[in-house]
Amino acid sequence: MAYPIGIDLGTTNCVAAVWQRGQAVTIPVDGQGTLPSAISVRSDGILIGQPAKGRAQIAPASSVTSVKRFIGDGKTKWEIEGKTYTPVDVSAMLLGRLKEAAEAHLGEAITEAVITVPAYFNNNQKRDTKLAGEAAGFEVLQLLPEPTAAAIQYGLDKGKNQTLLVYDLGGGTFDVSILEVKENDFNVVAVDGDFHLGGDDFDLLLVDHLIGLIEEQTKEDMGLFRSLFGRKGKKKKGSETATREMLLARQRLKEAAEIAKIELSQADRTCVSLPNILGTSLDEEITIDTYNRLIEPMVARTIEKIREVLASARLTSDDIDRVILVGGSTRNRLVKEQVTKAVKEPWTSEHVDEAVAQGAAIVAGSMAAPDLDMTPVEININNVTPFSLGVCSYEKESTRCINSIIIHKNRPVPCEEARPYELQTAAGRDNKLEAYMLQGESENPAECLVIGKYIFTGVSHTPGALAKVEIQYGYDKNGIITAAAREQSTGKALELHVEALPDDMTWLDEISRGGSFDPSNLKLIVTPPGYDDVGSVLTSLQLPFIVYTERQPLDCDIFFWNCLASTHPSAEAIRDYVSDGGCLYASCCAARDLDDAFPGAIEFDHSGCRSETIQADVIDMDLTKTVGKNLRIQYNTAACYTVSLQGPGSKVLLREAATGKDVMVMVPFGKGHIFYTCFHHHEDLSKDEKSLLQFLVMKQISVVSGIPIEAVSSEIRT
Ligand code: AMP
Repeated sequence: MAYPIGIDLGTTNCVAAVWQRGQAVTIPVDGQGTLPSAISVRSDGILIGQPAKGRAQIAPASSVTSVKRFIGDGKTKWEIEGKTYTPVDVSAMLLGRLKEAAEAHLGEAITEAVITVPAYFNNNQKRDTKLAGEAAGFEVLQLLPEPTAAAIQYGLDKGKNQTLLVYDLGGGTFDVSILEVKENDFNVVAVDGDFHLGGDDFDLLLVDHLIGLIEEQTKEDMGLFRSLFGRKGKKKKGSETATREMLLARQRLKEAAEIAKIELSQADRTCVSLPNILGTSLDEEITIDTYNRLIEPMVARTIEKIREVLASARLTSDDIDRVILVGGSTRNRLVKEQVTKAVKEPWTSEHVDEAVAQGAAIVAGSMAAPDLDMTPVEININNVTPFSLGVCSYEKESTRCINSIIIHKNRPVPCEEARPYELQTAAGRDNKLEAYMLQGESENPAECLVIGKYIFTGVSHTPGALAKVEIQYGYDKNGIITAAAREQSTGKALELHVEALPDDMTWLDEISRGGSFDPSNLKLIVTPPGYDDVGSVLTSLQLPFIVYTERQPLDCDIFFWNCLASTHPSAEAIRDYVSDGGCLYASCCAARDLDDAFPGAIEFDHSGCRSETIQADVIDMDLTKTVGKNLRIQYNTAACYTVSLQGPGSKVLLREAATGKDVMVMVPFGKGHIFYTCFHHHEDLSKDEKSLLQFLVMKQISVVSGIPIEAVSSEIRT
């Protein structure tokens, strides 16, 4: 029977530990307690750990360090020696090395592990960490938040009930957790953090200070050079034009800054000596006061997070029995001072680098079978989710998309929440429900993390009625998102595909701004009021427009053409306008005039034309949402009133409620397209008809302005 081990997969170092004979013991790797989180690829093999860290200094292009910063970002890849490595691949190599070391140390195959992750890791980061563990040959028993692991290492057998605040500041991330410990029950009450704050930022502040000193000495503008220090994960602006000298100087400055920072955690002053750097030589003393002044705003941000997490746990600093510091950057003296001021004198583990792995080993030990040479501990852990889980949802009233939260942050995991949806189905197509999942607290989806597009397929066709589907959203015990859907009537489970997100997500930003439909960006021209007054609809939508006058050039984004207006453009002008990419919204009486402009291109039959109110739901086929009811239309049974000169855009389907029969399809088109509606008498439309028309006009505008509202409007608001 194998030992399950605990692993701290750190940004800078990794540690493995095991619960043996009643205590957590660190497993040596290459004779050390920690394995540097570095790999380096050579033509004859891959170095892992200490030798890779050394080689990374001289061969940075063939080496990967701090892989943890990139895990789950879905885009980072390293091309080395003709092969591509993802963050999952690199993390799996580190985990594989720890596995080997554990097997050598314990003398048997190791197949199970508890792996720690920052409490503030999002879904994709957790998911990919688990994948890396599996790729290394582990069954991942649990992903344990690092602060929880640290609290367990500290709190186990302390024998009293207490409330702990764990402040975890590493190289790249910061999180703060509050736990209530009762005997061996560890309940996380609240978590908060900042995924873009860590010791590396302190280094960058020092680097910036040093560049300032170089600038003073050389009187050279270091703008391009400064731009090489973009924050991790972001493309560094100046990289393309940087010289080799600059890249080398960057590396030297970063290393010097980190060394100075570490020295200042003990001493009151340090000296940075860098001969021959960027046309000068640096030999500067840096005092603790200078350094503290630089990092103070960042430390203040962490203190603010402590206040927030206390508030969300409804506690004050007096309620905290013990503050535990975790992570290399808590060795900064200002951090300790500020935490002491804000809460109380913190406690630091003797084995600060090993505490997290040892906590994980205790948890692994609690899961072990009793026939091992160890006494399994009985501990219960209750974690919470650090992020709210939401769905991108289209809010018709404000014509923008919002993050509609389903599970709020700080809820104990695992948890589940069901939401019912109704959707119109059609025969002969795969009826599906789509949801863009978000993690974050903001109502603005662009300020949240988009996890992916969740597509549930195989909804049974329900003629004459809306299909009822229930989606079960949740978090598993590791805080990884779960989602499942089933049909309410049959109980049938729907198949789920998670679609990768497109590279360009700028549309999300646009759609989240209510102003994405800002009419000032679009020029709308409308023929004068006549039989078919679309102007009143635009007015009710508060969209400014220009009234068409004779011989006016059609230099607009959308031309709304009421063919019975007293003044209207010639067939030739219409043809030129559309051929040049103009968007034409033509009303029900446009048929003959359209035919003049585009002879034979459009199929019309007005012979049986009549006006009628039909009991019908109007369904947007992309949004799977009812957008109108009981529509009064001028329609023709022989011909479908859909015209497209250049292919369809997104459709709106009109389905007769009684029979489930598709009555017609209306298609808003993109540029160079015609959008033809057949509403009768726009001036006296019913409420439903009007809201439908507003919807169509708005949609048309969104198509013309290039904002794919259908892409984000996947939640049905009932
Ligand atoms: P971790 O992710 O917990 O391994 O923490 C790594 C971060 O801790 C890096 O930014 C290190 O530069 C920083 N660090 C390590 N030792 C010290 C120290 N003595 N003083 C200040 N920062 C340190």
